[in-house]
Amino acid sequence: MTTVNAKRVEVLIVGGGFGGMYATFKFREMGYKIQSFEAGGGLGGVWYWNRYPGARVDLPSIDYSFSFSSEIEQEWTWSEQFAAQPELLEYINFVAKRLDLNKHFQFNTRIEHAQWDEGRKLWSLKTDKGEMWEAPYCIMATGPLSVPKDPEIEGLQRFKGALYRAARWPHEPVSFEGKRVGVIGTGSTGIQIVQEVGKTAGELFVFQRTPSFTMPMRNVPLEPDYVAEVKRHYAGIRNAARNSAVGGTRPQSTRGFFTVTPDQRKTLLEDAWKNGGLAMLGTFSDLLVNEEANEHVAEFVRGKISEVVKDPVTAEKLKPRGYPIFARRPCLDSSYYETFNQSNVHLVDLYEQPILEITEKGVRTGKGEYPLDILILATGYDGLTGALTAFDVVGRNGRTVNQKWKDGASTYLGIMMEGFPNLFMTTGPTGPAALANIIRISENDVDWIAELMVHMEKTGQAVADVTPEAERAWMDIVGNLAKHSLLLKAKTWYLGANVKDKPLGLTLFTGGFHKYREYCEAAKQDGYKKAISFVSGHVGRAV
Ligand SMILES: Cc1cc2nc3c(=O)[nH]c(=O)nc-3n(C[C@H](O)[C@H](O)[C@H](O)COP(=O)(O)OP(=O)(O)OC[C@H]3O[C@@H](n4cnc5c(N)ncnc54)[C@H](O)[C@@H]3O)c2cc1C
Repeated sequence: MTTVNAKRVEVLIVGGGFGGMYATFKFREMGYKIQSFEAGGGLGGVWYWNRYPGARVDLPSIDYSFSFSSEIEQEWTWSEQFAAQPELLEYINFVAKRLDLNKHFQFNTRIEHAQWDEGRKLWSLKTDKGEMWEAPYCIMATGPLSVPKDPEIEGLQRFKGALYRAARWPHEPVSFEGKRVGVIGTGSTGIQIVQEVGKTAGELFVFQRTPSFTMPMRNVPLEPDYVAEVKRHYAGIRNAARNSAVGGTRPQSTRGFFTVTPDQRKTLLEDAWKNGGLAMLGTFSDLLVNEEANEHVAEFVRGKISEVVKDPVTAEKLKPRGYPIFARRPCLDSSYYETFNQSNVHLVDLYEQPILEITEKGVRTGKGEYPLDILILATGYDGLTGALTAFDVVGRNGRTVNQKWKDGASTYLGIMMEGFPNLFMTTGPTGPAALANIIRISENDVDWIAELMVHMEKTGQAVADVTPEAERAWMDIVGNLAKHSLLLKAKTWYLGANVKDKPLGLTLFTGGFHKYREYCEAAKQDGYKKAISFVSGHVGRAV
């Protein structure tokens, strides 16, 4: 890769979601010369791209927000317990303005190539505009869910109606009034879309292959008194979040399912259902490891589906079977199952009638053609690894990330990769991403990277690479924990099962955010000696 006319800074940051925003702020405040890039037209990452109707976060807003600035905590006021996408984007833009972040970003700019130059101890990035940038450090805040995946269905390009992808939703409002609308995909996104679009569509056809378990969100507006209380106690709230398995304030019981009587279990599950959110997951300690306990809870939720959905045939089809509850990302809804009681909403069971092709007019299944005006794809992502395998990231000895991960992702703490010195990820694969609050993970990861860089500066090190032993040890920890997890028992993006030819395996740390932080801390204790091999020399800052 030619580096003639390359522009030079000290830290290059790719991605403008929560991770990239915090990295940009942090390294600027540390005095580094930075340049950040974002493929989208503005900040926000997931919340910039996903403007589909009904998009909403499934963690309480007070958790799903930055914790690094107590001023911002005091200045920003959430209006709902679970914020909708427009409010999340407003928050993101508020933070960006408050911290003057936009000026560091090149928007509408995709990084197409990244290469380590061993001789010059630099990363070189090439943008899709043909510009070259160089820096000793590179932060990939490219997101665990930023590469949307179209379904592998013949004829998608033939469709003459309006085709919308949830993850690339237009910035203008879309009207469904009186239209025949189809939605493919019934994960979190599909569920949010269906319950919203069902309100106005003339006819809505929900093409369902694998039903998801969804539980009531029970979203509420936040009362001023409560907000004031939260603001007085943010420090404690954040502290609790950092020391919890989920990186948030959701209670996690230590009570095993079978330690209480059937009546008590029923009461606890009813309470969780009534309280809403992901309360049910935290009601017992063993739902992700004890298959029998898990099945009891799954059956409880299936029972709720029957209580809500009037047509027993539709209710049966909506009931997830064959995989443990919570092994796919648990979904939250406000009226998903109720939507199927409307006469304009139709469930199309793809086990009974698989989609054969997309035609000019709509979707053709084994039972016939469904003519549509609008087709919406909510078909997920090349999760966790997709963003860093979408282009060539070339490390030591010309080895790419694609080559390194050909049998599955391998990292150290989800932050570094052996053979890719001075390259760091936020919420990378084999970290706790997706199983804990990603904003807490991003902050943890950026702080960890920053501390390492300070250490390098103090000790005169130019290059940091993970040792093969440290990476192997981390992967053993991740692998051994995964063996006990029911997450292995569902075909999900957690495992890479939704992407053809992707190596299968659980690329998530399942030990909980608090434990993850302990491993991150432990790495530092002996001056990183066990984990990292350094090359001394000229350090990043003095360009
Ligand atoms: C629809 C949806 C709903 C979600 N809801 C929740 C939720 O309720 N709770 C929760 O905890 N998490 C949720 N998530 C997970 C979400 O990924 C994280 O919460 C968080 O937003 C991730 O932030 P990030 O900065 O790591 O990544 P992102 O927000 O994905 O940002 C990464 C950015 O990097 C950019 N990028 C990637 N590659 C390149 C490149 N080569 N060049 C330039 N730019 C690049 C992308 O355009 C993207 O904007 C959801 C994800 C999706 C997709």
